[in-house]
Amino acid sequence: MITIDREGTVIDVLAPTDLNFLQQVEFYNGILIPGMVNAHTHLELSYLKGVIPEGGGFAGFAKGLRENRSRFSRDEIEHAIDYNAARMWADGVQAVGDICNGNSTFPVKTRSPLTSHSFVELFGLNAGIREAERAEMIREEAVGAGLRATVTPHATYSLNEEGFRFGVGDDDNSPLSIHFMESPGETELFEDRGEMKRWYDDAGFRTDFTPLYNSPAERVVALVPSTRKVLLVHNTMIGQDEISVLKDHFGDNVTFVLCPRSNRYITGMAPPAELLRKNKVRVAVGTDSLASNHSLSMIDELKTFGSIPLEELLRWATIGGAEALGLQDTLGSFEKGKRPGVVLLEGVDWSELALTPEAETRRIV
Ligand SMILES: [Zn+2]
Repeated sequence: MITIDREGTVIDVLAPTDLNFLQQVEFYNGILIPGMVNAHTHLELSYLKGVIPEGGGFAGFAKGLRENRSRFSRDEIEHAIDYNAARMWADGVQAVGDICNGNSTFPVKTRSPLTSHSFVELFGLNAGIREAERAEMIREEAVGAGLRATVTPHATYSLNEEGFRFGVGDDDNSPLSIHFMESPGETELFEDRGEMKRWYDDAGFRTDFTPLYNSPAERVVALVPSTRKVLLVHNTMIGQDEISVLKDHFGDNVTFVLCPRSNRYITGMAPPAELLRKNKVRVAVGTDSLASNHSLSMIDELKTFGSIPLEELLRWATIGGAEALGLQDTLGSFEKGKRPGVVLLEGVDWSELALTPEAETRRIV
């Protein structure tokens, strides 16, 4: 039993011996969980739901994004952001790690009850320092609107050396969020071969950073200070070697964020969740965007993990994400003084303690 005050602050967590004597108790059939943390989404892409075909591979997805981004009106884009932020809140999401390339989500995030951390992405293989200045201006606009925000490198394969160093360089302790080892092409690029290498050569993109590092993990370890919190997102292609190297460098500062439905949508692959679990590293879960997913439902994301114990999955979806974003003092678990939200999880198979296909969540507080 959880007791909360009017504002939703947890007063106590109890195992009551005789419920019949208690006043003002509401009963629910299911599991009460704290509000969830969607550790990786792109709310600004919500208007692309169903637009890019499934199974096109990584290059097909990138092409789909380029071709469709300018087809929609400002109104359509804003409506999609508004609707999906409200939907996430009703479904029991408390906080989001939200990737931004512009300011289109700031009005919604300012008025929404969702807690957010905006990650302003830095791209550019040929770009100079002006790209970095542009990202910094967007970050300042977010902060000016009262939002938490950091500039972050998009990925190890999409930024030249100067840009990547800028993206990880400021010495405050706010988190970074880097798309990491999502497709085979990323590792192959550092070996001067593969789909991404061919695409870059054809397009005339500079890849002068690849001789400096043997792998994406090596680039991250070489450039990101070990004291910095970092969310590595996707990890579809990650293996034991990379996990060990990253764990040694970052210790508790690294979080491996998994978005299995987005991986299935784009490449048909699945991240090595069991391997990460065995390594006892922090795992969090994200839905990625509606450009590569059918919904922003966290519980539907958890259903894809198969044999991983429910208790652990729920930890990934709550405190794992809260710690990754530095929100663990107020969110992510039922502890005295926190205000994590209260969510009801229904549709649990009680004999197996597993999610049924019908499992769903809804916000109580
Ligand atoms: Zn993403």
